[in-house]
Amino acid sequence: MAAGGSYLNLASLSVITTEEEAQLWCREKGLLPADLECPLCGELLHPELKDRSKYGVFICQKKVAGHEVYGRFNLSAANNTFFSGTRLPTRRVLIIMYAFAVKLSYSQTIRECHETNVPEVAESTIADWFSYLREVCRGSLDRRYNNQPNIGGPNHVVEIDECKIGRNKFEAGRLVEDSWVLGMIDRQTKEVRLEICPNNKRDIHTLLCLIRKHVAAQSTIMTDCWKGYDDLTLQNFRELAENHNLNFVDPMSGASTILIKNSWRPLKQRLCRGGVRKDDLSDHLCEYLWRQDCSRLQRDPFDAIIEDIKVLYPGGLHQDLDDCV
Ligand SMILES: [Zn+2]
Repeated sequence: MAAGGSYLNLASLSVITTEEEAQLWCREKGLLPADLECPLCGELLHPELKDRSKYGVFICQKKVAGHEVYGRFNLSAANNTFFSGTRLPTRRVLIIMYAFAVKLSYSQTIRECHETNVPEVAESTIADWFSYLREVCRGSLDRRYNNQPNIGGPNHVVEIDECKIGRNKFEAGRLVEDSWVLGMIDRQTKEVRLEICPNNKRDIHTLLCLIRKHVAAQSTIMTDCWKGYDDLTLQNFRELAENHNLNFVDPMSGASTILIKNSWRPLKQRLCRGGVRKDDLSDHLCEYLWRQDCSRLQRDPFDAIIEDIKVLYPGGLHQDLDDCV
């Protein structure tokens, strides 16, 4: 959408002033279901506002076939949506989604959520929502990797580099513990893959396993990952790589990995700036890769997060009623 010169920004959200308007906006965008087919009789239902149900309820109690056996059908309109279970006004959730998309800080997000005579949003609440949104990024990447498991391939050059994230120490509880991460970039498509080394190991078997997971056979691989290894280990590695049809260019021959090194410099800066718990590192890598994809595929980040939320949280029933009864 950004490419067409039209995109959503805070000004487009500022026209939303009430909860009703916010929910209407979400229904128009497909973030909340506008209607639902009754799974018992097929009637098209619209959300009915009931006491204590913020998003309304789909209710059907027709005296027709289907309901004779199962009775009344009743489902919250927020069921299986991104808004399920939240007490935060929908307008605020939308601002937080926008803030995440355009990389606002927590304090900037609190500022944008500010309303006169309404308590501020807690920083911890924003941290929680940003974390839910990182899960959305993970879901988006998972789907793409399922469709397109590998980068590289014949006539493609893949640069590989490893790096230790979290060398910088900050105050207690906020420092990043050291984690080895392997980065891979396809020079032609510029697609990046990142993997945290399991158990923080970086022996040749571990690295080769991660490379095979992401890099297609017959790729030409440029790396200086093994420069610290002795000759025997390197010999073993070359034999293993040949068995897997991967062609490694000797780092001593001047193989360049400048693209991947440049590519993840911003990531390292970002992770070192705020400090990230080791448990959260994987989600932060997903966010980073998701943003890389947005820029590579020219997706507007706010449009993209809305679309990816809709796929992960389509609303309605989780599964066919047939499975439930
Ligand atoms: Zn019905």
